[in-house]
Amino acid sequence: MNIFKKSIAIAFLILLMASIAWSYETEYVVVVLLDGIRYTESLGDPSGTYCPLLTDLTSEGVVHDSAFNDVITNTRNAVPATWMGRFYSLQDTSYLGNDVQFCRYPTFWEYARVGLSLPASKAVYVTPDYGTSTWLPSFYPGYGPDYWPSFHHPERIGDYNLAVFDSAVTVLKRDHPVISYIYLPDSDHAGHSGDWEYYIAEILQADSLVAALWDTIQADPLMAGKTTMMVTNDHGRHDDDHGGFQGHGDDCFGCRHVMLFSLGPDFKRNVHVDSPRASIADIAATAGELLGFDTPYSTGRVLEELFGGPYQYLPGDVNMYNGIWPPSVIGGDVTYLVNYFRSLSERCLIGGFYSSADINGDCLVIGSDVTSLVQYFRVGADIIGCRDYPPAWPVPDDLPPGAPEGWPNCE
Ligand SMILES: [Zn+2]
Ligand SMILES: [Zn+2]
Repeated sequence: MNIFKKSIAIAFLILLMASIAWSYETEYVVVVLLDGIRYTESLGDPSGTYCPLLTDLTSEGVVHDSAFNDVITNTRNAVPATWMGRFYSLQDTSYLGNDVQFCRYPTFWEYARVGLSLPASKAVYVTPDYGTSTWLPSFYPGYGPDYWPSFHHPERIGDYNLAVFDSAVTVLKRDHPVISYIYLPDSDHAGHSGDWEYYIAEILQADSLVAALWDTIQADPLMAGKTTMMVTNDHGRHDDDHGGFQGHGDDCFGCRHVMLFSLGPDFKRNVHVDSPRASIADIAATAGELLGFDTPYSTGRVLEELFGGPYQYLPGDVNMYNGIWPPSVIGGDVTYLVNYFRSLSERCLIGGFYSSADINGDCLVIGSDVTSLVQYFRVGADIIGCRDYPPAWPVPDDLPPGAPEGWPNCE
């Protein structure tokens, strides 16, 4: 299948997915930003030395191991980039008698409030109180102050992260905001101190606060099972060849590489993905996809690779439909699979993987799948699909009796 045909097929598939009204389970999105933690001290360390609780939680979510701030690795550019879904410098202005700085493009709170007609209480920003230095959302025509989030600003006394956590728990339980952004600043300050023990202590604390936040969400009668949480950083810190953990701000790998850990009912579980490359500017569009609002001025993409299906295929129906409806596993599928290996052509991909031909559930399509498929016919052995591509089967009752146009097909 040539590229053109393949993109037509993918377009049909997307239309099909949309037309069958496969709405997402997610009703709430919570973004948590941990300021300036290097990936080697977070989920980039498989043993979870400094993030033991988040590392445990990875069995319930999807870790993107190739997530970056590839633009400017400082907080004042990167945090607004996560809001706007693009990088663009803040602008100075005078607002309500104060000198302030604001976003030049709409933020995801504004997109959500416009697109979903949300009251302010349903879009929240929890951050320490930086007073008039607090970066503001946009004044963009059609968006702007009427659509800003409600700000929850604990005073900057004592432990900032703890104060933000307490505020966040209160507002989540009380208001059940549809879209929340929770900013935990302390790890960055600790890193700048140059005191490794202090830096690590703040990471351990952030780890426990984020895990506790997830527990709070899962204990809430409304938000449990319907909330997607995405945890990220604005930037990393210098790798040891470029100045070490004390600083950040250049384009070294340590500064650019960040955590992107996502949990939710529509995402994969217990999986690490590392392609395609993700940006912190992709979070806004991904939140929009889940909740159903547009982010027209964002340059980011929807992080499709995080989504866990369900996918439109029947495991073992190797050639996918091919004129026979409803989809079924028949002898012709063995022939098709053997021919596939002979020609090694690239086809039948769903989400980048030939999922219907993985018979034995190892998320590979190799010779042993032929053997397994033959065993299915001979002795009734189970067909086990790939866990990373959960099939939408049995399909919903409202599927039309005949094959819908564009049902995935290998021909
Ligand atoms: Zn910093
Ligand atoms: Zn650096």
